[in-house]
Amino acid sequence: GPLTIAEFANKINKPVTEIVKYFFKKGMMLNQNFILNEDQIGELALEYGYDFKKENSVTKENLLETFEVEDTPESLVERAPIVTIMGHVDHGKTTLLDALRHTNVTKGEAGGITQAIGAYQAIAPRSKKKITFIDTPGHEAFTEMRSRGANATDIIILVVAADDGVMPQTEEAIDHAKNAGVPIIVFINKMDKPDANPDRVKSELMERGIVTEEWGGDIPFIEGSARENIGLDDLLDTILLVAEVEDLKANPNKFASGVVIEAHLDKARGPVASILVQQGTLRLRDILVAGGTHGTIRDIRDDKNKAITQAGPSTPVQIVGLNEVPQPGDKFLVLNDEKIARDIAEAQAQKIARDAMQGSKIVTLDSIKSQIEEGDLKNLNIIVKADTQGSVEALKSSLMKLEIPGVTIDIIRSGVGAITNTDVTLAQTANALLYGFNVRPSSEVRQLIDERGVDLRLHNIIYKVIEELEQAAKGLLDPEM
Ligand code: GDP
Repeated sequence: GPLTIAEFANKINKPVTEIVKYFFKKGMMLNQNFILNEDQIGELALEYGYDFKKENSVTKENLLETFEVEDTPESLVERAPIVTIMGHVDHGKTTLLDALRHTNVTKGEAGGITQAIGAYQAIAPRSKKKITFIDTPGHEAFTEMRSRGANATDIIILVVAADDGVMPQTEEAIDHAKNAGVPIIVFINKMDKPDANPDRVKSELMERGIVTEEWGGDIPFIEGSARENIGLDDLLDTILLVAEVEDLKANPNKFASGVVIEAHLDKARGPVASILVQQGTLRLRDILVAGGTHGTIRDIRDDKNKAITQAGPSTPVQIVGLNEVPQPGDKFLVLNDEKIARDIAEAQAQKIARDAMQGSKIVTLDSIKSQIEEGDLKNLNIIVKADTQGSVEALKSSLMKLEIPGVTIDIIRSGVGAITNTDVTLAQTANALLYGFNVRPSSEVRQLIDERGVDLRLHNIIYKVIEELEQAAKGLLDPEM
């Protein structure tokens, strides 16, 4: 039926002025009682990602990126925090994940042990509240998801072994957390060891800006042992405290949307996907799109391999029924319309193929000038790897002195050593230039650099780095360089 601007605004939960402004920008002065015609409604629906004929459906091309239904404050309920465990190799990430997995399993409970579906839920013993853990320790899964635009972590637990202290991957984890703006909880592990030295861990982390509450900072630290089950309840409680501050909420009363954690092809069952519901409630027989594929859900299993019929926000589940295997980091969305789902999946698949061919829009030295001019680049992120700490410091201080009008330079990561896959993924995720000073990538890393379209600059003279950047900012870079 006919719809006024005021009614339309009301329907999509936007201020009336926003719709009036939208038309004003297009040269039309309309007041809130103006009756919209069908074309205008269609245009606005597109603009705001709505289709009024079908709840929850949007346009094909931009759907999975732009999709978001405005939730009224009353529709939002508390949801479980989603936690990723990071830290240096051998510091105890896997042991901690295993220990936490068993915290709420009573002895002898049949089928109580969780299945490996990429994530699981634990129940904090004291508050009885749920916490969702992403079950792949390490940084790759996290950066991979982020590089694909998916955000599936509310809190990062940084595991540091008390007998080893801050190591390269500890620093990496800090960089990732800061870059993603995700709060950190530090778990000082292996406190059972005779040479455990938590104060050393605290001071080493303090040097990197991670200051324990005990020393006046704002980062919670828990000391314990994953292997000996010490400090785990404290850790779970602390996660819930941080979650409370973060005020994590979701609307369970709409079609589900979320992210694919992992997927594989099962000979008997076909494509099997582990997904994390972030919004809404997923139900058996729902029709969904996941990245470039779609299908009707025939089976939902929880993390204990129990068949269930529905799953609300923050719940990880394994589903069967997709036509093809989606990618980790793919977003999914329930549409409950087979034809629309198929259309969208096809459009998505084409878009994915296009993006893969074009490479993602990443900053390169050649494009700096135009990006600055178009106002796309206000922050130039840089990652520096060099052969010695001396070179790292020298490069950093020269870069910090460099002035490019309208642009601030951020060195988001620097370190001694070869260029690694993690450097490349972070460069892609944070849209950063990657500098190697007297270091080179391996052929495997080189391949990833090419795949991701990251601009790697190799140098061995500092002033050349600076000169090259200055020239690029002025647009004078010789394309042959
Ligand atoms: P990850 O590489 O970070 O996943 O580390 P793992 O969980 O595989 O642990 C590496 C080693 O440290 C294993 O031999 C574990 O048994 C051991 N470990 C883990 N946590 C503890 C702990 O709290 N105390 C002691 N003594 N050893 C631990």
